[in-house]
Amino acid sequence: MKDSILVINCGSSSLKFAVLSNSGKNTLVEGIADRLGSPESSVTFKHEGSKNEISLADGNHNNAVTEIKKWLDKHPEIESSIVGIGHRVVHGGETFTESVLIDQNVIDGIRECAQFAPLHNPAHIKGIEVAFNLFPGLPQVAVFDTAFHQTLAPEQYLYPIPMNLYREHHFRKYGFHGTSYRYISQHLATIVKDSDKQGVLVAHLGNGASVCAINQGRSSDTSMGVTPLEGLMMGTRSGSLDPSMVTFICQAENISSDDALNILNTKSGLLGVSEISNDCRTLEEAMASGDLRAKLALDMFAARAAKFLASVSTTLDSIDHLVFTGGIGENSNYLRQTICNHLKALNINIDLTLNNNAPRGEVSNISSQNTNTNVWIIPTNEELMIALDTISLIQH
Ligand code: ADP
Repeated sequence: MKDSILVINCGSSSLKFAVLSNSGKNTLVEGIADRLGSPESSVTFKHEGSKNEISLADGNHNNAVTEIKKWLDKHPEIESSIVGIGHRVVHGGETFTESVLIDQNVIDGIRECAQFAPLHNPAHIKGIEVAFNLFPGLPQVAVFDTAFHQTLAPEQYLYPIPMNLYREHHFRKYGFHGTSYRYISQHLATIVKDSDKQGVLVAHLGNGASVCAINQGRSSDTSMGVTPLEGLMMGTRSGSLDPSMVTFICQAENISSDDALNILNTKSGLLGVSEISNDCRTLEEAMASGDLRAKLALDMFAARAAKFLASVSTTLDSIDHLVFTGGIGENSNYLRQTICNHLKALNINIDLTLNNNAPRGEVSNISSQNTNTNVWIIPTNEELMIALDTISLIQH
């Protein structure tokens, strides 16, 4: 069947890919090219239950896609079923409000948005250009993390700074994880009729973490800002803090503002506070064996996630649903419970037995009886969303 989509997610030093068929429901092959730009780079393919790693001499985005093409050449039944390529793109600025078929204008637009995503957008362009060279006949689609949040009202997306900074430099809240929020909103509507006419809070908690309020199917506020640094405490990012801290850190440590931002992006969050790890699972194990630093980091993460959920809920008429997703949201009973403990004033209550026994990788409702808000765990699926957008755009 000719119905498969190659989904490509180019990071600054990694490239994830998957071939999805049957309206995105089946994964024919998936994998990751890791540590691009270093001598230890490799590509791993997962296919029919087996895993195969190929090391890449001088790995970069170009030879990672070349390796994928070589693998597909050896699996012609999969290669010949591919009808389009969907790319995840981190920053679409104010230019891209929905997914688009890629042409030279779109590539130029993605390049213009690179000022706010200097590591990601150039990597996406490399991935797109290599894919055009290696798969010349296939249409390509760009799916933007920011697009879902273009529905925010100006009082939510503007920062209270001199307006010329917005007009001349486009400094405003953009928000991220939009593809995940769109998936959750649409999936919830398949479970609860009319949820797309209600108020929904979503906590996407992974190594990167944010929250979103969805009013009648449209994003009404979100926690990340001009970059993914704003908002929640994350694996290695501080999230929101007093902006004067940047200057204070520069002066105290005698470093540049870029170095200070590097600390806030890569050495803070769960890692910075625990001084152990950015990984939630590792910290939960450390907490279970009595490590108080791990517990403090996790409890701060929960307190701040709850604070931002309450904050974005001010754009809703009612909180009918709260959804947890992402690696932490889907798997950490402790953090779901601790976050909901902070939200009792909003009448959000979960059933501890349901929370502790939620089946992995499945949708479940963990609300207690005496609550107005349904609390859900819904595994996200950004690749599926990218495949569906690609199918829909190439059919027109
Ligand atoms: P990202 O896509 O932002 O890189 P993920 O959504 O994959 O991140 O989430 C990664 C996080 O999920 C890590 O902190 C990891 O420890 C956490 N996680 C995964 N499984 C579990 C688990 N069983 N219990 C607690 N945390 C988990």
